[in-house]
Amino acid sequence: LLARMLRQARERSAGGVEEILAKARARAGLTPAEAARLLFVEDEEGLERIFEAAGEVKREIYGERLVLFAPLYVSNFCVNDCAYCGFHRTNGGERVRLSTGEIAEETRALIEMGHKRVLLECGEHPGLNTMDFVTEAISTIYSTKSGNGEIRRINVNIAPPGPEGFRRLKAAQIGTYQLFQETYHRKTYEALHGRGPKGDYARQLFAHDAAFEAGIDDVGLGVLFGLHDYRFEVLGLISHALYLERTFGVGPHTVSVPRLRPAPGVSMVRGRGVTDTELLKVIAVLRLALPYTGIILSTREPEGLRARGFEIGVSQASAGSAATPGGYGARAKTAAQFSLGDRRTVEGFLKSALASGILPSFCTACYRRERTGEAFMALARPGDISSLCRPNAILTLKEYLEDYATADVREEGGAVIDRYLPMIDDAGLREETVRRMRMIEAGRRDLFF
Ligand code: SAM
Ligand code: SF4
Repeated sequence: LLARMLRQARERSAGGVEEILAKARARAGLTPAEAARLLFVEDEEGLERIFEAAGEVKREIYGERLVLFAPLYVSNFCVNDCAYCGFHRTNGGERVRLSTGEIAEETRALIEMGHKRVLLECGEHPGLNTMDFVTEAISTIYSTKSGNGEIRRINVNIAPPGPEGFRRLKAAQIGTYQLFQETYHRKTYEALHGRGPKGDYARQLFAHDAAFEAGIDDVGLGVLFGLHDYRFEVLGLISHALYLERTFGVGPHTVSVPRLRPAPGVSMVRGRGVTDTELLKVIAVLRLALPYTGIILSTREPEGLRARGFEIGVSQASAGSAATPGGYGARAKTAAQFSLGDRRTVEGFLKSALASGILPSFCTACYRRERTGEAFMALARPGDISSLCRPNAILTLKEYLEDYATADVREEGGAVIDRYLPMIDDAGLREETVRRMRMIEAGRRDLFF
């Protein structure tokens, strides 16, 4: 069906794009067929119009804020043989499963970088990376403190753990359950995953259903771009998101758009890959098609491309990441899952983000105010979320500036706060934000709306 839709979109003349963009600008989303038309736009002018519309939608819904997080790899033991991944079973290299002490050490390192939000990741290993191990890791991370800081939200990206496992993840208070389909193209999926539990296409595809059924209402989708035709994958993501929304009343909270990177011990070469312009088109079309879904761009991508991605649709980004268990200090020499494109520290990242007028946010308020699932969508729809995002971004940036920033970042951050504070429309909310900023200066932490 998706392949047929793509063929039809390619065969049509260039007409219709303006109407599609007008619909998307009104934040009405796009059908997969409409998205397919946009994905065939190749000329520079046409692409510019798509990027412009996507940037507009992004600013209207999310404002200027960009939420930051970092991955935390707790184990690279894995029973799967994914052809693209440095952790695949038959790859040589050291295997590491962090101890509780090491997880606490990694967490402290992340806290001291200024992070408040982590994405917990590990390979799939029923004997070693058990639910006991994962839930203990979560409670270690939540209970670790350093100075004024702590991790306030843990999202997880791990193999689907079955109904009981999902219930335990929920009880452990995870934020989002993320799982990437890698490729929606079944034949390609099966060819790349071989034997092992992840080889089961349907298990991966219906994992989010299982999460919803177990009571988790906050899930993330993703594709590993570069495995199959990018246009097909975007239609897969949109169809999957619309299916979840129809079935469970809420769409995915986030969509991730990782692109294949070189990895130690991986020699896989797949066609010509996805170019930078194509990846930006993917981001823009997803922003237009799923206006209320967060889009995550990781440090797999280089600085310049990330900066453009933030303008046209990305709402969450990792910063200062390590893609290896122990990579923040506990065991810095272990081989990574893949090599990184953006190696800047959080501090370095913030400098350029602030210089380009981005309001960096360490906010974790929504899930702690139980604004997840349907409740989140009800707020996001009328654009209300940006009115809360702005003060929360300001308060969490203020904390960062007090606790972790060097003098020049403190100055630039202060200037960015001064620029966006007056844009909080509601006078009461604006005054309360100022009052809370003073409280943060006086030593209070973790204030949010
Ligand atoms: N093991 C779990 C799984 O496969 O679902 C969870 C996490 S895995 C550590 C996280 C993601 O990294 C994978 O879903 C895949 O998309 C991505 N990844 C693996 N190898 C990669 C590579 N060479 N380049 C970029 N991303 C890669
Ligand atoms: Fe294991 Fe995940 Fe890597 Fe596959 S992508 S080898 S499941 S860690």
